[in-house]
Amino acid sequence: MSTRNDQSVPRSQELPGHGSTFGAMLQEFNVAARLLNLDSGIWKILTHPKRQITVSCPIQMDNGEIEVFTGYRVQYNITLGPAKGGIRYHPGVTLDEVTALAAWMTWKCAVAHIPFGGGKGGVICDPTKMSRREIEALTRRYIAEIVDAIGPEKDVPAPDVNTDAQIMAWVMDTYSMHVGHTTTSVVTGKPIEMGGSLGRREATGRGVMIATREAAKHVGIELKGARIAVQGFGNVGSVSAQLIARQGARIVAVTDWKGGVYNEKGIDIETLLAHTEQHRTVDGFAGGDPLPVDKLFGLDVDVLIPAALENQITMENAPSIKAKIIIEGANGPTTPDAHRHLHERGVFIVPDILANSSGVTTSYFEWVQDRYGYFWTEEEVNQRLERKMHEAFTDVLQTAIKFNVDMRTAAYIVAINRVAVVTRMRGMYA
Ligand code: GLU
Repeated sequence: MSTRNDQSVPRSQELPGHGSTFGAMLQEFNVAARLLNLDSGIWKILTHPKRQITVSCPIQMDNGEIEVFTGYRVQYNITLGPAKGGIRYHPGVTLDEVTALAAWMTWKCAVAHIPFGGGKGGVICDPTKMSRREIEALTRRYIAEIVDAIGPEKDVPAPDVNTDAQIMAWVMDTYSMHVGHTTTSVVTGKPIEMGGSLGRREATGRGVMIATREAAKHVGIELKGARIAVQGFGNVGSVSAQLIARQGARIVAVTDWKGGVYNEKGIDIETLLAHTEQHRTVDGFAGGDPLPVDKLFGLDVDVLIPAALENQITMENAPSIKAKIIIEGANGPTTPDAHRHLHERGVFIVPDILANSSGVTTSYFEWVQDRYGYFWTEEEVNQRLERKMHEAFTDVLQTAIKFNVDMRTAAYIVAINRVAVVTRMRGMYA
């Protein structure tokens, strides 16, 4: 293996074209790799996905017709342990996106200091237009198509955009039917009754709350009474809003795929949750004024929490952002140029691979409990989570101070270093 210190991007790394999410990941990676003086051999390894699987899933729809859905599973890096990462169902899924998300899982698990590599799955579909039966059929067929590639020691899926605990139950059942015995630890984010962990559903939001609290402390903002805007009201956005409101902050604005709501006095999150349960959107909520979705980022708030999809904060809207703190609940919500712009303006950004890492940390707790066959109380889970998140935040903040860089670059430095050390120790096979 090359031990040469080459400070430039290795020649074999072709940067994907403009608009590529994997390209954005590489840009972030390269900044940190340069500062780390990463040797070019390891640089090359860490910028290539280990495995990319594409499958076709034929499903009989409720109207009798057969549709074929394309699914992906990417195992980006498995140096530190089994690949780990969610499965998303969305019409916009691409192999480029899933590869970037799998890479981010690699860095996220390393920052969180848990013994997993990074993976991600995605199926191109629109679950809002599908029945529960069709979603079950698609889930079972997708898992059957990738069954040889997953397993407790190989690759452990979890929920992501538009997937939930019931879907994870079908994943567990399908895998178990194929191997001939019940295997709970093949997937995390399961229902509690069948090997799920207490606290897992709320974990990502809880971590976002902890990151918000720590960031506010660092920047010198009192969280009590602080004004918060949240983009997205799925699992991450809604639980984050709920837990941050309980800290005494005011959630003044929430938007989702359809519309938004604004209330200067603070939105009542419990009532908003009841509304979204019924209408599947925050749009039309009576507990505030309607807010056009494109007005969210420009609001006069202290903290902005993008908790929807990637590439939302761009150079088109970043100049209008007034928040002093951004907590990335979503994966990849800020483009590299928008990030640079905001950092130069003094905005404190807690990056995705740190801010939303509590989801996968608690997935790790679930996997441990399943393999152990012994389950912890919710209090135990939350205490361990608090400790892990605090440790990760401190590691990244200290690295940011030491290298005099932003929190994203610091998180990459921590992550790349942890994966690179083990890559070097394990050496080259063949
Ligand atoms: N989908 C979540 C994420 O992006 C959780 C992944 C997991 O728990 O494996 O981090």
